Amino acid sequence: MARATSGAKTVPAESRSADEASGTPGRMPVLFVSHGSPMIAIDDSRFARGLDALGRSLPRPRAILCISAHWYVAGTFATAAAHPETIHDFGGFPDELYRIQYPADGDPALARRAAGLLAAQGATATEDWGLDHGTWTALVHLFPRADVPVVQLSIDGRLPPEAHLAMGRALAPLRDEGILILGSGTMTHNLRHAFGAMRSGDTSTPAWAATFDAEVARAVERRDEPFLCRALADEVGRLAHPTPDHYLPLLYAAGASLAEDRISFPVTGFDLGSLSMRAVRWD
Ligand code: ZN
Repeated sequence: MARATSGAKTVPAESRSADEASGTPGRMPVLFVSHGSPMIAIDDSRFARGLDALGRSLPRPRAILCISAHWYVAGTFATAAAHPETIHDFGGFPDELYRIQYPADGDPALARRAAGLLAAQGATATEDWGLDHGTWTALVHLFPRADVPVVQLSIDGRLPPEAHLAMGRALAPLRDEGILILGSGTMTHNLRHAFGAMRSGDTSTPAWAATFDAEVARAVERRDEPFLCRALADEVGRLAHPTPDHYLPLLYAAGASLAEDRISFPVTGFDLGSLSMRAVRWD
């Protein structure tokens, strides 16, 4: 009991609980999540449950800025609608998936702020897109109540990896403004292989997928940015990501991380043999 009476004066200045007690959000974590198949939104898989648990462990952000693999275009745009539409940007899935709505508010001021931080890259706010399934299939698990405003950021497919990492770095100050930066892709994403596994029933993990997943995880832990930027350049990288769209959200998240962040992998494992569902958390 002596501890309780003397404790109030010895709480360290950087204590997170002190921030929470005062109602001021502390620095927000940064996340990369692997959404894999859109079915993760409705399937009761261990990956879905992993995202559920991750969501429950997060502090409540003021808003979320999500970099989605599925908004891979010629330019950097931030969604500025006050009420962004839920976009069902896939084909051939059960009706149940098309009926899902993720009715989170937007945050037009955050969209303008993010575009401002990325002004050097020509970023602009737009109302021409909403929340695509890269964002909402993850958020239905992380924030199932849809009560935190969401802004989505596009990926400019014309830019080299270093530019995406630099944009993540430019967004890092948002973490101290209560913004959760979330990259949503998939750690390894060779759909041709995944569909083949679905047809054949052979869901063994190929060596290239295991190697890429392990090497990138090690590079994340070591903060080895040069490796992260060249990861797709060799044969293993090209097999893991025939196109870079599902890898690049990781570079935004890694860019927004800080040297003092703790790094953890709250979700790991392979779906359909080759899809690494690894999530990364920095905080
Ligand atoms: Zn996807």
